[in-house]
Amino acid sequence: MRDASVSRFTAGRLGPQRRAADLARLRSERFDVLVIGGGVTGAGAALDAAARGLSVALVEARDLAAGTSSRSTKLIHGGLRYLEQFELPLVHEALTERGLLATRLAPHLVRPVPILLPLPTGPLPVRAVRRAYYGAGVALYDGFAGLTGQGRGMPGHRHLSRSAARRRFPSLRPDALSGAIQFHDGQVDDARLVVTLARTAASLGAAVVPSARVVGLRRRSREVTGARVRDLESRAEIEVSARTVIAATGVWSDDITAMLPDAQPGLRVRASKGVHLVVPRAAITGEAGLILRTPTSVLFALPWGGHWIIGTTDTDWSLDRAHPAASAHDIGYLLAQLNQVLSRPLTGADIEGVYAGLRPLLEGEDDTAENSTLSREHAVVEPMLGLFLVAGGKLTTYRVMAADVVDRVAHRLGVVRPSPTARLPLLGADGYRAMWRDRPALAARSGLPTGAVEHLLERYGSLAPEVAALAAADPALAGPVAGAPEYLAAEISYGARAEGALHLEDVLTRRTRISIETLHRGEESARPAAELLAAELGWSAADVDREVAHYLARVAAERESQRMPDDQTADAARHGAPDVRGAADLAGRS
Ligand SMILES: Cc1cc2nc3c(=O)[nH]c(=O)nc-3n(C[C@H](O)[C@H](O)[C@H](O)COP(=O)(O)OP(=O)(O)OC[C@H]3O[C@@H](n4cnc5c(N)ncnc54)[C@H](O)[C@@H]3O)c2cc1C
Repeated sequence: MRDASVSRFTAGRLGPQRRAADLARLRSERFDVLVIGGGVTGAGAALDAAARGLSVALVEARDLAAGTSSRSTKLIHGGLRYLEQFELPLVHEALTERGLLATRLAPHLVRPVPILLPLPTGPLPVRAVRRAYYGAGVALYDGFAGLTGQGRGMPGHRHLSRSAARRRFPSLRPDALSGAIQFHDGQVDDARLVVTLARTAASLGAAVVPSARVVGLRRRSREVTGARVRDLESRAEIEVSARTVIAATGVWSDDITAMLPDAQPGLRVRASKGVHLVVPRAAITGEAGLILRTPTSVLFALPWGGHWIIGTTDTDWSLDRAHPAASAHDIGYLLAQLNQVLSRPLTGADIEGVYAGLRPLLEGEDDTAENSTLSREHAVVEPMLGLFLVAGGKLTTYRVMAADVVDRVAHRLGVVRPSPTARLPLLGADGYRAMWRDRPALAARSGLPTGAVEHLLERYGSLAPEVAALAAADPALAGPVAGAPEYLAAEISYGARAEGALHLEDVLTRRTRISIETLHRGEESARPAAELLAAELGWSAADVDREVAHYLARVAAERESQRMPDDQTADAARHGAPDVRGAADLAGRS
């Protein structure tokens, strides 16, 4: 429960003292809800429960969003292709969430991104039929969002001739399309969304503890009453007492039920690997994204600040779940698919970053089902009294998943309070639009260039002045991060001071995206960033060396894995770098 004497902004700051205080709470309190897993689902569930006035603890084995939730295509979308599969309720639900996020809950994090759907070439009658078919689909997509959704928050679609499409996207090969339809979806930095959700939960009184792994469940007879949690920073074990437990552990869902050998079957979650490439914006000339059909699924090329994100693949993965590895085969596939429509083909030399994530797919009855036909919907089950598993779904629908699982929890606790999260803006949303309008004034007050203030507003919303104040107070923090001029040094410090970052990797891969947005993959930023963190986290010179060594080993292992021909060899190469938190047991093969 929130302490009314502390402001919400202060309460939402996840710094080292706050972590120590929350660890003390884990030892002493009996929580209404313990949430396991700090991805988008767990952070969303913690927020939902805290917003209903329940006492909540959230524990995450590694860093917030370290699992799938920092490795997505970063779209807040209904999923145009699910429309084609007639998954109409799923699309409608996701478009409603898209509208809510873009207009009310997180307008500072979710922005419209224009996407071109190229129309294939062919004889005139075939072209006309295809334009009518795709046009009807996109019109239905927009109609769902605009007529029955929560206010679209996105511009409507537009038909483009071939020449108009090529003006929007000059890198498209002239013979690759007969025209296009432009529509919009939402784009988000997924890891920042998760951190903002966790901070909003903390601002409402939730204890939020990253680097805390559940190693066992506590039970009394046939009822779950909490969990045994290992603090991966101190190696201490804590018995956490809770009336109910939510496991939002994505592709690790089966591991939680395995802790209770006599529980009913939980969720069967299959992992499907999706790989993305990041290339510089200059490598492709275009002002909108692209959605392309591939033999198995769809491929996106999306503008992402000074870069493009290209993805994704969709293949079964049963190796290391903590560090899914992209192979040379995955990379070659993505390049080959996109190069079919580009006038200047991309090569490996264009690639700045590569990342791989695992979709938590709910397994259907048919074990042989292709990944793309497995359910994208979510499910909540209670395999033992007091333990709720929630998995599936997607980033876009985290709020619906959270409300569903907390409804079940509230019912068990005898609490009759509906989810208020559809009306609860995330931290940084309130006042964001006014601040955006007044950004020259904020720039003048903080002494930062307007461009830097815009960058901060788009990442922190109305909390941007907190970061600007760090820069104003210390000239060393007002400059760019070494090797990553898009970011301010103050953002590294703020990551540790307010956003729960505990290790160098946390700030280079998730609080910022330096690890995938630079050709050096953060190697040049590692030591200067570690020195900034040392001041916040009290690190010694030896700690700095250890953190830098860990990060460089991780980059080297990832590069090596990306040269390997297939999943097995890529996985073996990725094992060259140990986890900085020593959470080797999370790697567990499925
Ligand atoms: C390639 C790809 C592209 C995608 N693109 C999109 C997209 O564009 N839009 C969209 O809406 N969705 C997208 N998705 C889907 C979306 O990213 C996922 O559905 C979502 O991130 C899953 O979140 P989660 O919280 O359930 O799982 P995770 O993010 O994996 O979180 C689970 C967490 O549980 C923690 N954990 C596990 N075991 C324990 C334990 N014992 N103790 C403590 N913590 C534990 C893990 O460390 C992890 O952080 C994509 C997915 C992939 C893979």
